[in-house]
Amino acid sequence: MTPIMTQQLIDFTYIAAAIGFILALKWLSSPVSAMRGVLVGEIASGVAVVATLFDPQVGEYKWIIIALIIGAGVGVPLGMVKMTAVPQRTALSHAFGAMSAALIGIAEYYVAAPNVPKFEMAEIGLEVVIGSLTFTGSLIAAGKLQEILPQRPITYKGQNYVSLSILAAALVLIVILVFHPDFTYLFPVMVGVALVFGIMLVTPIGGADMPTVISLLNSYAGFSAALLGFVLNSKVLVVAGALDGASGFILSVIMCKAMNRSFTNVLFGAFGQMQTSAKGPQEERTVRSATPEDAASILASASKVVIVPGYGMAVAQAQHKVRELFDALTKKGVDVTFGIHPVAGRMPGHMNVLLAEADIPYDKLLEMDHINGDLPQTDVALIIGANDVTNPAARTDTSSPIYGMPIIDVDKARTVMVIKRSMAAGFAGIDNPLYYLDKTLMLFGDAKNFVSSIVKDLGGSS
Ligand code: NAP
Repeated sequence: MTPIMTQQLIDFTYIAAAIGFILALKWLSSPVSAMRGVLVGEIASGVAVVATLFDPQVGEYKWIIIALIIGAGVGVPLGMVKMTAVPQRTALSHAFGAMSAALIGIAEYYVAAPNVPKFEMAEIGLEVVIGSLTFTGSLIAAGKLQEILPQRPITYKGQNYVSLSILAAALVLIVILVFHPDFTYLFPVMVGVALVFGIMLVTPIGGADMPTVISLLNSYAGFSAALLGFVLNSKVLVVAGALDGASGFILSVIMCKAMNRSFTNVLFGAFGQMQTSAKGPQEERTVRSATPEDAASILASASKVVIVPGYGMAVAQAQHKVRELFDALTKKGVDVTFGIHPVAGRMPGHMNVLLAEADIPYDKLLEMDHINGDLPQTDVALIIGANDVTNPAARTDTSSPIYGMPIIDVDKARTVMVIKRSMAAGFAGIDNPLYYLDKTLMLFGDAKNFVSSIVKDLGGSS
């Protein structure tokens, strides 16, 4: 095969891979087609990588094979982490992706220096700065989520000015290098400044806002890869990076809305301050608790039940028992649906993934806005290991750190039942007034065991 034919074949393969990426994203947007989306995305990535290996520019395979072995050695164990550790694993993936983009940009600069054309220098500069800041920012995000670093926001007076000055310094260095690419000593300074900015960007952000930060870092990593595609003249990298960057950006906007964070705040990294409620110490309040038998008889006599799952269901791995509960109630003629909050659990789509794993019909999983319309006509709202996403303080208490966050309006149902182990707070670390309402019954226990007992009392299979 002539080199021209090989190049044409590679280009066609890249087009096929790009189509695969687009279809993967489309299919990933619905639980029904998500598995297909994952498979097609994996195949498209594999095809693009293999096609690149046939590029005539690839002169030597030794280092590629060594890199593949090291990459697989890190990637395979990373893929096996528990579901609850996926957010920090994702942050690490972004860190590695951004680091590789930055390193390739750095190599491109040193190969071409000191005669780097202006446009190429601008591309390399932006790509390396975004890649470097995403690398350190993602490492800090992973460290916070793994609780190696403190989850609380670390702030000081004038922080935004300092951070923005560091970013401005990085941008000024890019401009200087565009006009003087021969100032090679400035290049590592620019990289260092960008690395420091990544740390400054994420350190002031509290753990509760990390999901938004991670999807934003995902977006940065994607844009950095797209810029690298321009530098390397790789169309497939431009397409894949742009898709990654745009989808991460859209997800960040959706999550900002779900967590009531303004997008400007996210961009400037000035959010996530954990304020303590302005109210004084709470007076002792009592709650009503109930047994699995009580819960079973209330559920059996209901005609409409909404189940709201949260992080506790994930920790307890109770999804299969929840499926049994769904079956037992449906058999008794009870209309059971699930209310899914966009940030329930610890990663976007966490509840959908778990409930899909337990084969709960997709049409029974209703999004927050939909389920909120149903709750006033609901007999029982059964909350399984969810807390913050049901906290009515978000609607009423202006001093609450989660004030303004849209929640699932479980308090509008006729009866509320909450399965959790204790009165401990959820992720945001705040009390939930829902538990003290007259209509609320606390079902204290591990989610899996408690649901299992209810199913037994309902005469189900547990
Ligand atoms: P949450 O507010 O963290 O509350 C989870 C509750 O589950 C806790 O109050 C805990 O109470 C209970 N629990 C823990 N283990 C349990 C077990 N084995 N059995 C029964 N209950 C158990 O969870 P959420 O309502 O799902 O809200 C999610 C929170 O995480 C939000 O604040 C969100 O902003 C944040 N966040 C979301 C994401 C995302 O992308 N989805 C990522 C990071 C953070 P006990 O200890 O008393 O049992």
